[in-house]
Amino acid sequence: MLPAFAAFAFFVVASTMSTAQTPGAPPPAAPPPLFATTKIADNVYVFRYGGYQSMFVVTPEGVIATDPIAYLRPQAAQTYIDEIRKITRAPIKYLVYSHHHYDHIAGGKPFKDAGASVIAHKNARAKLEALKYPDVVLPDMVVDQHSTIELGGTRVDLIYVGRNHSDNSLVMLLPKEKILFAVDFIPVQAVMFRDMPDGFLPDWFDSLDRVLALDFTTLIPGHPGPGGRMGTKDDVRAVKEYLTDLSNATRELANQGKCFDEAMKTLKLPKYESWTSYGTYLQGNIERFCEYWGWGI
Ligand SMILES: [Zn+2]
Repeated sequence: MLPAFAAFAFFVVASTMSTAQTPGAPPPAAPPPLFATTKIADNVYVFRYGGYQSMFVVTPEGVIATDPIAYLRPQAAQTYIDEIRKITRAPIKYLVYSHHHYDHIAGGKPFKDAGASVIAHKNARAKLEALKYPDVVLPDMVVDQHSTIELGGTRVDLIYVGRNHSDNSLVMLLPKEKILFAVDFIPVQAVMFRDMPDGFLPDWFDSLDRVLALDFTTLIPGHPGPGGRMGTKDDVRAVKEYLTDLSNATRELANQGKCFDEAMKTLKLPKYESWTSYGTYLQGNIERFCEYWGWGI
């Protein structure tokens, strides 16, 4: 779960620019449209709606779509399908969930109705079957450690890299194009959501190492990076460094008996203050590491 903080930052930047305009300065940039589709490689596209985004892959034999990103906004799924239809009439064969959090995967019914098979990690299906949220389509197929989709000459590897922001994140790797789609556990220049709910320490660190061992050059995140940018391996390394710095600093305070309140009030990590949501979520991130180092939970 990582609500629209990135979108928020995205739009705030635009509106700040419009109010801070000085005489003689070029006209302010228009706010970004509600949604956009961007071509990343020959057959690979990113669909963004508000502050959320998904990857889709177009082949002559069909389309591999990912996260419907239509939570509490059913029109987003139809818009997503309309955007795919501007590019191809090929059938939408698959809809792959990045993880089970509703804000990324709710609203998939139009994809299912269009004939797509829904794929997720096996732990995601177990969670979704238990929760029975009305607007989530249950997966038809599950992945344990690794699976491969070969469609129309394109290969997509679905890889489980262990527990991180949930216990069921699948990363999607296009080995030929060297593109990786990974959602929420590797935000691009953003701190983690609140107190990292549903997250797993210390597994998260191992998971980042497993991502770094994959062969890719472009990281597509589930929320746009600053200015809408995609990520690279350097962004994965930066997330690992952030979590390491946060962990070390919080551990020291925990050992001095300063968790929770004093640590949450006093600890600052100025190296990351330009990151999205630093002001709103750093305290929550410290809280999570206080639980870990101060209570052992
Ligand atoms: Zn999430």
